[in-house]
Amino acid sequence: MLTPREILKSVFGYDSFRRGQEEIIREISSRRDVLGIMPTGAGKSICYQVPAIMNRGLTVVLSPLISLMKDQVDALKQNGVRAESINSSIEWEDALSIMRRARAGDISLLYAAPERLDGAGFLKALESLDISMVVVDEAHCVSQWGHDFRPSYLSIAPAISSLTRRPVVAAFTATATPEVRDDVIKQLALENPFVLTTGFDRENLFFQVERPEKKMDYLLNYVKKFPDMSGIVYCSTRKSVESVCQELLVNSANAVRYHAGLSDAERRRNQESFIYDRAGVMVATNAFGMGIDKSNVRYVIHYNMPGSIDSYYQEAGRAGRDGSPADCILLFGRSDIATAKFLISKGEDRDSVKAAYRKLRAMIDYCNSGGCLRSRILSYFGERAPSSECASCGNCSAVFERMDITVEAQKILSCVYRMAEKTGGLKFGAATISDVLRGSARESRRRSRIEELGLNGISTWGIMKDRSQSAVMDMIDFLAAENLIEVDEEYGSISFTERSMPFLKNRTRLMMRRHAEEHEESVREPRADALSEGRFWEARTEKRRHPRRERERLGEGGSPDMFEELRRLRREIASAAGVPPYVVFSDKTLLAMCEELPSCDEELLSIPGVGRAKLEKYGERFLSAIAHLTRHGTSGAD
Ligand code: ADP
Repeated sequence: MLTPREILKSVFGYDSFRRGQEEIIREISSRRDVLGIMPTGAGKSICYQVPAIMNRGLTVVLSPLISLMKDQVDALKQNGVRAESINSSIEWEDALSIMRRARAGDISLLYAAPERLDGAGFLKALESLDISMVVVDEAHCVSQWGHDFRPSYLSIAPAISSLTRRPVVAAFTATATPEVRDDVIKQLALENPFVLTTGFDRENLFFQVERPEKKMDYLLNYVKKFPDMSGIVYCSTRKSVESVCQELLVNSANAVRYHAGLSDAERRRNQESFIYDRAGVMVATNAFGMGIDKSNVRYVIHYNMPGSIDSYYQEAGRAGRDGSPADCILLFGRSDIATAKFLISKGEDRDSVKAAYRKLRAMIDYCNSGGCLRSRILSYFGERAPSSECASCGNCSAVFERMDITVEAQKILSCVYRMAEKTGGLKFGAATISDVLRGSARESRRRSRIEELGLNGISTWGIMKDRSQSAVMDMIDFLAAENLIEVDEEYGSISFTERSMPFLKNRTRLMMRRHAEEHEESVREPRADALSEGRFWEARTEKRRHPRRERERLGEGGSPDMFEELRRLRREIASAAGVPPYVVFSDKTLLAMCEELPSCDEELLSIPGVGRAKLEKYGERFLSAIAHLTRHGTSGAD
């Protein structure tokens, strides 16, 4: 019998296991229940597919979405594994024939939706099968504490216990707080499970926050730079999906749109175009993405800031599932805050509205942060980053300008303190605080309030006269991101945190950073205050410490033309087989081919992602394309 590692190589074409996979496979093989909590793209499927192939009996995989099932089954079949799925989209006779084959021991993995368990027929059919393992995908759906509760998941445990021989149960999810984790164990009645959490970090994702003067220009530039890459652009409203998609189309980008206002037919059509690589860019609201398993999404750009880091990470996490480098870029503008607040204010339940404002604040702080974006996200999820500088986020790799704002920060904090002192503890928003600091209030309502409360007579009135309104506001944002002040996002009011007084007393040095490129841009196209502000920033910039080598390989380095040609071949094969291109080979596999230039079966087998079945099916075509391209360059390729 083959070992797990041998199956990994011969069936899936991979040389080594990823973090956690081997342990889970070992535990399953010793017939112990498992719960694997691993982020998207970590490789949960391999954890149960390898033992399923090794097992003699049948593995039943309960998975919530038909699209996910279809993808998994297509991918397994491509690798020569006997897998099928039973769901509402297949004909009755086909279902019967699948069950017949399952009884005859002709199927290794059978995928089904948990809703099937609600009917007596399917349960009865299961009893007649030799089931050695039940896998529960997206296991958090069993918990009412989780965010995607599905009542049918509650039928899983009784169904398992009704089987004559209890199979081993393996549950997987990408998200589980301790509360949800305990609930999953309880609701699925896992027996002394081996619980493995690999953490949230996705090393291949490059996180970045940009504040472009014109978001559309930034987006067009980016999409033009990587015209052949698959990417998602998320917008916060249907209206902006429409205008962004339109603008991309006008500029010859191959874009499609998706939001809840479109007909089902158009949504389905556009989703398919994107998944089958006919359209390069998907412009969508957050209605798009659930159940999308497309592994070769090379970038996710948020045109607007989402309402929480939870949503952001989930949406951005749709990039780079294949493990190749991918970009997650958030285009931040102040007006995004107002839109996010508007969306929250429509909520009815007071407690959840309060919680939503807190989450929004964490999101804004992420955008304003000058530190490592990856560690910011991980610490939000209660995890420690591998190091304080990740080398692959916009803040850890950018050229920065620095400004010592120790004195300014003290002025701002003192002003917050004096304003509260003068008014018997009232709190104010950033705009009013900035007016007092600058000793001028342009807006008449704020001016009369300031005068009414006597704030124009306090000692901090006008102590930052020489600064522009936006510069002061930027500093206030930065102080919030550094947790030196707290902003109540619902009312916008600012107060002290536990760090504020010690900072005022100890006069700790505080450096604010900003991307140098942004500064150059603002000099070319001056905002009202950009030039006068320029003098405060140190001319000396921090060095770019970590060039984005890996990422650039995809679009610019390596052999982009050959990559393109191989993608074309992949698209052709996929369309003939009626499967999405990434199911044939992942981008990562094609890139490895471009680098290694395999010239025989053996060399092709050494490429990650090429197993025996795919070698037999496609080996010849890819080898001859590579040989042709190497000999004649790309122009003559067929
Ligand atoms: P998840 O379900 O955790 O989101 P998948 O199981 O879809 O992730 O795996 C994501 C990608 O990683 C797939 O393309 C898969 O083939 C690939 N993968 C999984 N395990 C390995 C491995 N050991 N080596 C290389 N690639 C792997």
